[in-house]
Amino acid sequence: MSAPSIPFIDLGAQRARLGTRLDDAIRRVVDHGAYVMGPEVLELEKQLAELCGASHCISCSSGTDALIMVLMAWGVGPGDAVLVPDFTFVATAEAAVLLGASVVFVDVAADSFCMDPDSLEAGIALARDRGLEPKVVIPVDLFGQPADYPRLQPICDREGLRLLADGAQSFGASLHGKRVGAFGDATTTSFFPAKPLGCYGDGGAIFTDDAELADLLRSVRVHGEGRHKYENVRVGINGRLDTIQAAVLLEKLTIFEDELRRRQVCADRYSQALDADVTVPRLSEGATSAWAQYTVRLEEREAVQGHLKAAGVPSGIYYVTPLSQQKGYSAGLVAPGGNPIAASLSERVLSLPMHPYLEPEVQDRIVAALREALRA
Ligand SMILES: *Cc1c(COP(=O)(O)O)cnc(C)c1O
Repeated sequence: MSAPSIPFIDLGAQRARLGTRLDDAIRRVVDHGAYVMGPEVLELEKQLAELCGASHCISCSSGTDALIMVLMAWGVGPGDAVLVPDFTFVATAEAAVLLGASVVFVDVAADSFCMDPDSLEAGIALARDRGLEPKVVIPVDLFGQPADYPRLQPICDREGLRLLADGAQSFGASLHGKRVGAFGDATTTSFFPAKPLGCYGDGGAIFTDDAELADLLRSVRVHGEGRHKYENVRVGINGRLDTIQAAVLLEKLTIFEDELRRRQVCADRYSQALDADVTVPRLSEGATSAWAQYTVRLEEREAVQGHLKAAGVPSGIYYVTPLSQQKGYSAGLVAPGGNPIAASLSERVLSLPMHPYLEPEVQDRIVAALREALRA
């Protein structure tokens, strides 16, 4: 008999743990009927802001829309440069391009997978050299670990750029005791089901301490509304979070801190077991991670992944191509010398199954399969 297949992310285990609470929460919304901007949405915003220590939380329709909304509120458009890491999910760059801005792809640091401050400085110089006005830097907390905000923020301050943290993978993580949501001028996150805090569809949120920005975002979220819905004082979008998704998130929030602890335990177990075999992920000093992904670096990746698959162990490659090399983003700028770390990582990274309900025995199977694959 073959061993049971291993899920990459086990949302079923979480659902089993919450039992009928999720069903009850969804049913309450169906019954009360406030499907859009219902009371659960406001309660969720309050709890999320408290969790991360931000003054304002504006929930929204996705992590992508969250990025778009902030850039819209800041009036980013043609002639502006937005600096993003070359090694990230496409949405980070997409938001800027959609608004007509130019993107500059910045290299990342090999150890953290996050934006390299030196490369950011080169990117800012490049943008100015091309006659663009650098306006916004969007560091990404890749795989769950906060970017190097202590070094990135002073660069933004000195150069007069806004810092928008893309925390789609890192909600719940912290750096020197400060939680994701409290860095930069604003932070976005995503509640896509596979993210550390996921709903049962699309969802996202924006965090900021800037009251004026928060007001602008609430207007952008509802078609640029003014004093009421049918007064349109600016161009906006339909960017609201559904009440049912807020209700799901409120239930999941009750176990979120425990899930973060469990993810850390799983990451520690992996790192202890695999340290001698592959390059395991390292947290920067003072950082905790939400462990959206547990990502190792190795050679001969395609062969290793094939062996894992044959052994019933799923794995993922995030990301197989740096954004600057994607056809849709060929107009993006890259400083001379390219982004060698992003290029090298895209050939070597491999993400292993990671979720709060990964049992030690299953992890042992994954580790054994990986060791065997490396020997083959
Ligand atoms: C998932 C993700 C997004 C987009 O979030 P959606 O909710 O899927 O729109 C943006 N940036 C990063 C880094 C992501 O991982």
